[in-house]
Amino acid sequence: ALIIARQPLAKLSFNLAQYLLGAVASVVTFYLIAGLGGPIGPPQPIDWLAAFAAMLVVSTISAFTIATVVTLSGREQQFSRLPEALQVGGLFAITNTALALLVVEILWVQPMAVWLVAIPLVTLFVAYRAYLSERQKHESLELLYQSSQIFQGSPEFETAMLSLLEHARVMFGTDRAEFILVGGESGVPLRTAAGPGDERETMVPSPERADIIKRVLESSAPFIIDDPQEGDDLDRLFRFAMVSPLRGESGVIGAMLVADRLNENDEFTADQLRMLETIANQASVALENGQLEQSLTELSRLKEELRHQAFHDPLTGLANRALFTQVLSERMKALAAGSANGASGSRSHGRTPVVLFLDLDDFKIVNDTVGHGAGDLLLRTVAERLSAAIRGEDLAARLGGDEFAVLLADGHDAKHAQLIADRIAASLQLPFDLGGREFTVGASIGLAIGQPGQDASDLLKNADVAMYAAKSKGKRQLAVWSPEMHEIVLERHTLTADLTRAIQADEIDVAFQPLVSLDDERIIGFEALARWHLPGRGPIDPAVFIPLAEESGMIIELGRAVLRQACRRAASWSDEPGLSDITISVNLSPRQVHEPEFAADVLAILSEAGLAPEHLLLEMTETAMFSDIDATIAKLQALREHGVRIAVDDFGTGYSSLRWLRQFPVDVLKLAREFVVEDDAENDDWAFAHAIVMLGRTLGLSIIAEGIETRDQADRLRDLGCDLGQGYLFGRPVPSEQVPLAMATVA
Ligand code: C2E
Ligand code: MG
Ligand code: MG
Repeated sequence: ALIIARQPLAKLSFNLAQYLLGAVASVVTFYLIAGLGGPIGPPQPIDWLAAFAAMLVVSTISAFTIATVVTLSGREQQFSRLPEALQVGGLFAITNTALALLVVEILWVQPMAVWLVAIPLVTLFVAYRAYLSERQKHESLELLYQSSQIFQGSPEFETAMLSLLEHARVMFGTDRAEFILVGGESGVPLRTAAGPGDERETMVPSPERADIIKRVLESSAPFIIDDPQEGDDLDRLFRFAMVSPLRGESGVIGAMLVADRLNENDEFTADQLRMLETIANQASVALENGQLEQSLTELSRLKEELRHQAFHDPLTGLANRALFTQVLSERMKALAAGSANGASGSRSHGRTPVVLFLDLDDFKIVNDTVGHGAGDLLLRTVAERLSAAIRGEDLAARLGGDEFAVLLADGHDAKHAQLIADRIAASLQLPFDLGGREFTVGASIGLAIGQPGQDASDLLKNADVAMYAAKSKGKRQLAVWSPEMHEIVLERHTLTADLTRAIQADEIDVAFQPLVSLDDERIIGFEALARWHLPGRGPIDPAVFIPLAEESGMIIELGRAVLRQACRRAASWSDEPGLSDITISVNLSPRQVHEPEFAADVLAILSEAGLAPEHLLLEMTETAMFSDIDATIAKLQALREHGVRIAVDDFGTGYSSLRWLRQFPVDVLKLAREFVVEDDAENDDWAFAHAIVMLGRTLGLSIIAEGIETRDQADRLRDLGCDLGQGYLFGRPVPSEQVPLAMATVA
């Protein structure tokens, strides 16, 4: 009654129906033989006969109904077993009835004597239970044995088992795969094996697998054998093996094993173990039911999944580095073959592969500020845009992190390939909607064209190098590979190492550039600007080393060092004539502000230097402020409550939205140098500067115009209503020792 055992409700109603039927049938039988209404008294021999007949009818009915139901459920043909069931059932019915009649008779004659019958009855019951459980065990073993008999009997089944093992070998990269079945009466396990090498075995008694069976029966969980040194018996048989139990309906029926990896020192992973368990579960059902083909289909699906996993990036679904290099490799081989065959110029040109190497600019900021969820969404969207920008025969891949690559299938000349790269760049520059927040990220793109004689990794490396060159030109640039580029990249690496060392050795200096009031050209403060003098090379441009420090994360240390020096200097100047009330302006990188302890850190540096917070002005670009609005506002607000002022640096070059500006705790706008135009410029060119000054005044902010180099510019800006200025006209950035001197010259 297997199907019924699985469905409690069906089982209950079946049993009820069966009892009712049995009860009715037995009463009717009894009545037909003995009649009712006789005098009450000890049972007569005719009653005995009636009782025996009634019980026999019940047991026969139950044997028939069970056989019918089991057969109808499609499980197996049960009618052949009917005589056996009838025989056993009849025997029990007769014994039980005899015992019951005996009890009734005794009750009539001498009730106390019932206890004497109880003793042999209990003994009989215990013996009967023992017999039943023994019989059950025997039956399940027999069933198992029968199924292994089926395996041995059917060649298709053997082939199917072996081909399942064959698949498993390929899938897990092992030399060996085995099914080990719990032994029959002899207790010796039966093994079906593919490997080592070309060896094949089916259902061979294998005493040496008894340990595995023992372990599997004990724990009934999959396990890895991975330490050959540990030295128990299992470990001596294999280097690295994985074993999963084959779980049948009656319990563990054996084990599936894969062992001896082709790649010698590869250990199995937990994921692979889970995969083996899935296959083993499939296989054990199949082994019991003889439906191995179904299991094979499932296996090829799993294999396909594994293959896909091995060659695709799970996050974006794009090809991964492995697939990309494989495809590129084939193209490069075709190119080499084409040129060796002396194919015509245009034809071999037609197959020249082009590789674009893309790296997102500012991805780290998104990831650090809005979280990995948004970062993942951004990467997926980038993948979608990439796929949309290329044609079906081109291949886009995610190489890792925020690096992507595109292989252009058809040969292109550099110009055409650049057009495609531009198209991709343009699509990536559209804003990204990350959960209601808009972000703009661009990409730096390197482009390399394949040449005969190169292999895939050469070409990919060239594209990577070109990407680095693009990055060092500034963000959102495209660079086509050329041989000199290796130098640039190498230099960049060395420079990063040098910079890290310099920052750790506290070798970053600070220069001070005056901020003046445009009305009377009095110095009201200084902007602190980082300076790095690399021994043997001279001063390095901040436009070069600041981005390097941002990329490597060293900007946090660097920024803190500049802030500390600037505050100390400013505090020391408070004794100098005319310097007691100055503003010291310090630049902040977004990474610094994202530090959780940022605000507390700034206040600590101020108090350590002995500088009142009112003297400090912190500069941040719009882009930096925009990257994590709520947290940034909270931190800046906290500092502002202590008296620190906030400036928007390079205002007008970033997002510049009015709504945004109103939200921010800002005191000063620094008008970007772009808007401070040449002397001979048209009147209209001042329109932007004019608008920004008006905007600032409306919002009640002070405005510092940057990059004032001429007297005309200074006059013009003053007339527009700009109150403060900074630029070479008033003074270049100078070392701290020259600050008092600078004061004297301007004043
Ligand atoms: P910035 O904050 O906009 O600084 C103003 C830049 O304009 C400085 O360049 C300054 O030397 C330059 N400048 C000032 N007056 C004139 C002028 O009349 N004409 C011209 N052509 N340029 C002028 P510098 O020192 O090369 O710094 C470049 C950028 O590097 C700075 O731009 C700032 O964004 C960044 N930077 C410098 N020091 C630090 C620092 O300590 N931390 C951070 N996070 N960034 C820094
Ligand atoms: Mg600045
Ligand atoms: Mg600036």
